[in-house]
Amino acid sequence: MNMPTPIPPAQPHARRSLQAQVKWGSHLLTVGGDAPVRVQSMTNTDTVDVIGTAIQVKELALAGSEMVRITVNTPEAAEAVPHIREQLDRMGVEVPLIGDFHFNGHRLLTDYPDCAQALSKYRINPGNVGKGDKKDRQFGQMIEAALRWDKPVRIGVNWGSLDQELLAHLMDENSRRSVPWESRQVMYEALISSAISSAQLAQKMGMKASQILLSCKVSGVQDLIAVYRELAKRCEYPLHLGLTEAGMGTKGTVASATALSILLQEGIGDTIRVSLTPQPNESRTQEVVIANEILQSLGMRVFVPSVTACPGCGRTTSSTFQELAKQIDDYLRAQMPLWRSRYPGVEHLKVAVMGCIVNGPGESKHADIGISLPGTGEAPAAPVFIDGEKKLTLRGESIATEFQTLVENYIENRFGAAKAS
Ligand code: SF4
Repeated sequence: MNMPTPIPPAQPHARRSLQAQVKWGSHLLTVGGDAPVRVQSMTNTDTVDVIGTAIQVKELALAGSEMVRITVNTPEAAEAVPHIREQLDRMGVEVPLIGDFHFNGHRLLTDYPDCAQALSKYRINPGNVGKGDKKDRQFGQMIEAALRWDKPVRIGVNWGSLDQELLAHLMDENSRRSVPWESRQVMYEALISSAISSAQLAQKMGMKASQILLSCKVSGVQDLIAVYRELAKRCEYPLHLGLTEAGMGTKGTVASATALSILLQEGIGDTIRVSLTPQPNESRTQEVVIANEILQSLGMRVFVPSVTACPGCGRTTSSTFQELAKQIDDYLRAQMPLWRSRYPGVEHLKVAVMGCIVNGPGESKHADIGISLPGTGEAPAAPVFIDGEKKLTLRGESIATEFQTLVENYIENRFGAAKAS
C-alpha cells in the first residue's frame, strides 16, 4: 500500500506588485509588494463638517482602517480638508487621508494647495476627469498636483462611471470583428484599458510606477474576478481591490467576502475596501470589521482575538452560550484600540465558547482559553480550559462575568508589560 504524502497547507499566492508609500508626517504606510494587504474605508459624512468627519475618520482608524478616503467635491470641502487633518493630528490620529475627486478635482487640487498638501493620496477617476480635449488636460492637472506635493495616486475606474468615449471606441472596434466579443467582455477591456492607459500617461508626465495604484471596480462577483485576474496579468501597479456598491447587510458582506477572498488567495490585491451600505443606525465601522475579518479568515492578517463558538443545536436549549460568546466577542473588540499598545500580540489570542460536551472540551483545549457550557441534561457546570488543560469549573448565575475576568487575567499574565519584560 502506498504511504500518503503530507498534504501541504493552503496559502495565498505571493503578490508581485510594486510597492507604493502613503505618508502622513512621520507615519509611513507601504502598500503592495511584500507589505501586508492594507484595509481602507471611506467616510459618509459631509466633508464640510470638519468635526463630524474627523470623528468618523478616528472611529474608522480605531476599528482598523489604515487609510481613510473622504470625498472632496466642492470648494468648501477642499477648504475643510486641512482643518480635518489638523483636527486628526490634535487627536493623535495619524491615519493617511485620501481625497476622492470627480469632475472638478483638477480645479480643487490647483486652487486649494493646502488641501492638496494635507491629503496623502489622490483618487482620480478617469471616467470623470472631463470630456474630449479637456480630458487629458484636466487629468494632467491632477497629476501635476501629485508631482508637486509628492503624493501617490489611485487611478480608480468604476463601471458606473466608465469613460464613455473609450467604451464607444471599443464597441466600434468590436463591431468590426468577424466574431464580435460579448458586450460584457468589451466592458472588461474598457475598464482595464482606461486604468492602464491613464497610468501610462501619468508616468509620461513624470510619476514613478510605484506612485500609482489601480482599481477597476464592478459590482458583480464573477465580473470582478475576471477583470482583476486580467489586470494583474497586464501590470505591476499595486491594486486596490473592492466590489463596488456591494449592497447591504448579509448580501453585501457575503458578496464582498466571496470576491475578495478568491482574488486575495490568488495573490491579487494590495489594499481592500468593503463598500457596504450601512443598515439604518449601523456604524460605518462595520465595513472595516468585515475587511479585517476577510483578511484574518484567510490567515493573511491578524487584527483581533478570535472567538470560536459552536452554532448550537438541540443539545443545548439555553441561550447562555450564545450570549456569552457575543459578550466576549464584543468585549474583546471594544478593548482592542487600548490593548493594541498595552498588550502587544493580544490579537493572536484564541478564545472558545462552546455549547455542550460533544465538541466543547476538545475545541476549548485548542484555544488559549475556552469554556464548555453545560448542554441540556448535563450537570450545571462549565469547565474552563487554559493553555490546553482543564483548570477550573464555573457554576451558578455569574459564569459569564467570572469567565470574562478569567480572560482578562489571562491577557494580563500573557501579554502584559510584566510578562513582556
Ligand atoms: S458543541 Fe454541542 S451544542 Fe454546540 S453544536 Fe456541537 S453538539 Fe451542539
